[in-house]
Amino acid sequence: MILVFIDHDRGVIDDISLQGITFARSLDSSIEAVVVGGEANAALLGEYGVTKIHHATHASLTDYTPQAVGRAVAEVVKSASPSALITGGTPRGNEVLAHVGAMLDLPVVTDCSEIDLGASTVKRMRWGGNLIEHAKVHTSMMIASIFPHQIAATPAPASAEVIAFTPELTAQDTLVKIIDRTGEAAGGVTLAEAKVIISGGRGVGEDFTLIESLAGLLGGAVGCSRVVTAAGWRPHAEQVGQTGTKVAPDLYIACGISGATQHIAGCKNSKTLIAINTDGDAPIMSYADYAIVGDLHQILPAIIAATQAAKG
Ligand SMILES: Cc1cc2nc3c(=O)[nH]c(=O)nc-3n(C[C@H](O)[C@H](O)[C@H](O)COP(=O)(O)OP(=O)(O)OC[C@H]3O[C@@H](n4cnc5c(N)ncnc54)[C@H](O)[C@@H]3O)c2cc1C
Repeated sequence: MILVFIDHDRGVIDDISLQGITFARSLDSSIEAVVVGGEANAALLGEYGVTKIHHATHASLTDYTPQAVGRAVAEVVKSASPSALITGGTPRGNEVLAHVGAMLDLPVVTDCSEIDLGASTVKRMRWGGNLIEHAKVHTSMMIASIFPHQIAATPAPASAEVIAFTPELTAQDTLVKIIDRTGEAAGGVTLAEAKVIISGGRGVGEDFTLIESLAGLLGGAVGCSRVVTAAGWRPHAEQVGQTGTKVAPDLYIACGISGATQHIAGCKNSKTLIAINTDGDAPIMSYADYAIVGDLHQILPAIIAATQAAKG
């Protein structure tokens, strides 16, 4: 049996967690899940082939509390004895696995694209996918996260039984927790779920009005490069890349972004990538399905006008 840790944000399950379940199914036919806090989500997880959900509830688990979540997952590992603990490689998923590994004194491998449980080997993506590592993992139980968007989440309907439990937490376990959230977009589409992302880099400058307008018209989200977040022009939550969010939208429009490997690591799984850049030789142009050479301050207003006209 493989145990899959399910990452969620206040009860909303990340698609990358469903990718983790889908990947786990390719390793074993028996899949159980552990959900800490939030809802057990039996209908959704059953839809993806989970047959048993270990749902941890505790008065202290009101929002993400990394070490406490790790403690609850470690408790399930000890009682259920899975052959592997897998999760989709979200930042929270990776963080929780690190806690579990430390608690159980076992190694953790992140961002895997292939796992062979029999041989205890993995293939994993380093440096945002620019280096592929083949590694032997010396462990009694594989603890691994799956590189985001490596595979699509696909359903395999089953019926999921829910086993609720209260984990034994120490005061230390809840020292680090979310106590407040500020600056969150109200009602907007998040980067992770957006089908369309309009992303801006240094070439945009501080004023993202054009980027926001086109994103709004297309029902998409705003993304950006690290230069933009480092300058304080946009929040880190909008950063795409190796140290930002890894996205896989239907359409990614990169405006005034050069295409550094660390940025490409976050957007290379986009189904269609359009680049707008004054420099026809910018690296982003070689990744783009469509490359527009020109000033984004002239091109974006034209696209916005054409989109408005097409929408009537
Ligand atoms: C460890 C590490 C992690 C990193 N993680 C990330 C990450 O997660 N995400 C990330 O994005 N970066 C990351 N970086 C930074 C990355 O290396 C680049 O510095 C960054 O992506 C460059 O941002 P940019 O493309 O906006 O800026 P630049 O590289 O300066 O490119 C600006 C582009 O805009 C074009 N341009 C200028 N004016 C216009 C105009 N008017 N119209 C059209 N085009 C115009 C230019 O031709 C140029 O190509 C990381 C770096 C390191 C070392």
